[in-house]
Amino acid sequence: MHKTVYLDYNASAPLSLPAREAMLAAMDVAGNPSSVHGQGRAARKIVDQARRGIADAIGGDPERVIFTSGGTEANNLALNGLENVTVLTSAIEHPAVIEARPDARRIPVNADGVLDLGALEDMLRQCADAGEKVLVSVMLANNETGVIQPVAQMALLAREYGAKTHCDAVQALGRVPVDMGRLLVDMISVSAHKIGGPKGVGALAIAPGVMLVPQIRGGGQEKYRRGGTENVIGIAGFAAAVAQIDHNLGLMPGVAARRDRMEDELATLAPELVIAGKTAERLANTSCLILPDLPGETQVMTMDLDGIAVSSGSACSSGKVRESHVLKEMGVLAPGSALRVSLGTETSDDEIDTFIRVWSRMRGNAVRKKIARTAA
Ligand code: PLP
Repeated sequence: MHKTVYLDYNASAPLSLPAREAMLAAMDVAGNPSSVHGQGRAARKIVDQARRGIADAIGGDPERVIFTSGGTEANNLALNGLENVTVLTSAIEHPAVIEARPDARRIPVNADGVLDLGALEDMLRQCADAGEKVLVSVMLANNETGVIQPVAQMALLAREYGAKTHCDAVQALGRVPVDMGRLLVDMISVSAHKIGGPKGVGALAIAPGVMLVPQIRGGGQEKYRRGGTENVIGIAGFAAAVAQIDHNLGLMPGVAARRDRMEDELATLAPELVIAGKTAERLANTSCLILPDLPGETQVMTMDLDGIAVSSGSACSSGKVRESHVLKEMGVLAPGSALRVSLGTETSDDEIDTFIRVWSRMRGNAVRKKIARTAA
């Protein structure tokens, strides 16, 4: 069996060695962080240090970092924690935002997949005229295309209209600098497993003055903002992964060079290839490849048979692929024919070569089948 070429970092990145080691060490701490004895204090120390590390990494305040079970819960808390607000979100958010507030009004994007700031301003004006309190939620980088959103401009506009803001930075963290102060947002969601930490832990950081109604009620953990004993082991792994962010950001130009070479070679091989969001500012690691006549699901399965792990659009938990709302909103003609390739800092040139070879064979077979069908 050949080694898998893993090109699905936007779904989840492999656990990093420092995260693994930090988690192994945390496993030996028996205490509950809320207990007053020595073992409890040892667990509390792990959580408090991690809180400081995560706050530092995103320009937040440790007093206002709330640990959650991941990006999804952080988004749910942000979107439902403010009372009596009208919610405006971009039309290309992750389901963890869209499904958290099905009543939200959607801000459109342009053909590059970038937020339409003019439309946002019209919506803010309408809400102001109607006397509504508003929360605007826009992701920093899209999970399917990697397209980076004008979050600071969004937040400036929102401020003019007295609206609060939230940013889902789950895909951006570790790939572009993420700083709450520069982004000017009131809340920001992050998740450990996209940056080499464990799955099932994340955080919501909030700005001074943001008062949230807890969505998970229980003990007084997380300053009464999120009940439940903290996931000490996961949090230890999260902090260790966050400590690698600066190093990883330094590797991004190399990742971009590999991704760009791959896209150039594929485009030369297949003139019909469409790359979603290519002309916009994108994450260095993400490529959304559309082969108009080949369903994304078929592409993913073909690739898997050849030992290449990639995604099509956003996979939901059933493992089925649904047609991408992101690509539909961008007006892409064949939104069901997308393959998302997402590289990591460890992705090698050899792996990219293998991907190009397998992809080119898949595309060649599809073209031959199409010719045979047309001739028949
Ligand atoms: N937001 C974005 C943009 C994501 O890509 C993801 C995961 O794919 C999430 C939120 C959900 O994060 P988690 O898997 O930690 O719940």
